[in-house]
Amino acid sequence: MIEFKEVGKKYPNGYEALKNINLGIEQGEFVAIIGLSGAGKSTLIRTINRMHDISQGKLTVDGTDVMTLQGKSLRQFRRKIGMIFQSFNLIARTTVIKNVLTAFVPDLPWWRAALGIFTKEEKMKALESLDQMGILDKAFVRADQLSGGQQQRVALARTLAQNPQIILADEPVASLDPVTAKQVMDDFQRINREMHITVLINIHHVELALQYASRVVGIRAGEIVYDGPASQVDQDVLNAIYQGKQEALA
Ligand code: ADP
Repeated sequence: MIEFKEVGKKYPNGYEALKNINLGIEQGEFVAIIGLSGAGKSTLIRTINRMHDISQGKLTVDGTDVMTLQGKSLRQFRRKIGMIFQSFNLIARTTVIKNVLTAFVPDLPWWRAALGIFTKEEKMKALESLDQMGILDKAFVRADQLSGGQQQRVALARTLAQNPQIILADEPVASLDPVTAKQVMDDFQRINREMHITVLINIHHVELALQYASRVVGIRAGEIVYDGPASQVDQDVLNAIYQGKQEALA
């Protein structure tokens, strides 16, 4: 379970990006975080794996106070949490399988990482993850030769290779066309349902959020203004989240 208790986040320049966040997410939930650009969505999900440190309150994952983690314990903790980005973050001129194998690098002795030596188990796991994402046939293709949707699937396979408990996704479909975006959202849904992995997605596309997530968290200027079932998000809720800026719904 992910639990925020009165969490605040101030950036070094003094900007308060999150204010008094209280939020509990159970294992296996599919949650969409929506809000205007600059509302604090990205900051919120990045506090969970400590890409950003909180500056107030308490944030725990399965009872562990994330701010107490450092060095090896932080690395081990991060293994449980996959991160997916809008820009896929693949190594472009390298094969798909090598990209997936990078999931193991943080745990390798330095010489194995330096030489790129992976065990049979690691290679099998990487291939299995590609198979789970339906792109095993692309294993030996260079990453930059794939379409955007395929690249996001490779990023998901890389994440699955680390056996995550939670996947954080920061605008994962923002740079994809509508049809491909839906296919990638289907992948997230499948991963969530079949593997019981918690999925937390920042998404500016409201229709997709409502279609795929069971729970929606709406953020406005660093504060949660809605937290409830996707089925109960109506125009009033959207007005509260988007301050009546209808273009956000386009
Ligand atoms: P969103 O993901 O909803 O677009 P962000 O979490 O990226 O919003 O940003 C929330 C607010 O925090 C924005 O006003 C942004 O300008 C500010 N912000 C983000 N990163 C930094 C930073 N490193 N230093 C100062 N302010 C930041």
